[in-house]
Amino acid sequence: MQFIVMDLEWNNTYAKKANGYINEIIEIGAVKLDGDLETVDTFSCIIRSQIGKKLRGTVKRLTQLTNADISSGMPFTKAFSVFRKWIGNDDTVILTWGDGDIRVLLDNFKYLNGIKVIPFLKKYCDMQKSFQKINGNAKGQQTGLLAAAEYLGIDPEMYIHHRALGDSMLTADILKKIYPMGIIEPDILDCNDDFYSKLLYKAKVIRNIDNPLVDKKRLNHTCESCGTPCTQLTPWKFHCQFFRANFYCSECDLTYSVGVRFKKLFDQVEFRKIVSVKEPEPKIEQEGTEE
Ligand SMILES: [Zn+2]
Repeated sequence: MQFIVMDLEWNNTYAKKANGYINEIIEIGAVKLDGDLETVDTFSCIIRSQIGKKLRGTVKRLTQLTNADISSGMPFTKAFSVFRKWIGNDDTVILTWGDGDIRVLLDNFKYLNGIKVIPFLKKYCDMQKSFQKINGNAKGQQTGLLAAAEYLGIDPEMYIHHRALGDSMLTADILKKIYPMGIIEPDILDCNDDFYSKLLYKAKVIRNIDNPLVDKKRLNHTCESCGTPCTQLTPWKFHCQFFRANFYCSECDLTYSVGVRFKKLFDQVEFRKIVSVKEPEPKIEQEGTEE
């Protein structure tokens, strides 16, 4: 088995055929590691733009790439065919930081080659997802590459940022640190139909409390100080992604503001709860602010 850590750069541009905007890939960078996580080779290639004529200012500033660089690059189809040959071995796990690169790559293959899969993708792992298991980040928050490097004691200044090869080299060094922790392996996915359905699935927050996917057992609150079940004061109301209600603990004389969110993912419902203690409102203010 071998590992390919890949990073892509792209330019957001208007695509006539799609009647909308697309992130057109302009650079591939990758590091090849053997089964012992030793770096074997690197890959770097600039891609000639076919959809967008000019790089956006932000892309130019971040990547330091010029329009001249891009127009002298290799066409998309050729570049990825060379990349595929460079990968060689079929027993390969492709890894990226976050699944954004894979989504964009899939979009580009669809738009430019009319295919709905990534031809060289057999096994894949989103390292960001794995990493978040060890750094205790709150669910829903994503850890950036630089933050992860710093967490692991890697100096990010040693790498060229916002260029495909520099970012993939940094990601490869993160892999070397976290693979031995055993968190990567369970997240290596077979890139079958299920993988693509899951990738393209749009998670949706449930807005109707009567939806059968809403677990009614979650619609309560137990006091965090004394463990007594609280009394619900207000009906559940949907606001800003959460169903919200107030709860009261008579033991502690505390009012809680509780929010619960049910998010329909591909094969599960993700639950999130937020709780805060409501400060008692001063009497005078209450009198002055009658609705
Ligand atoms: Zn209590």
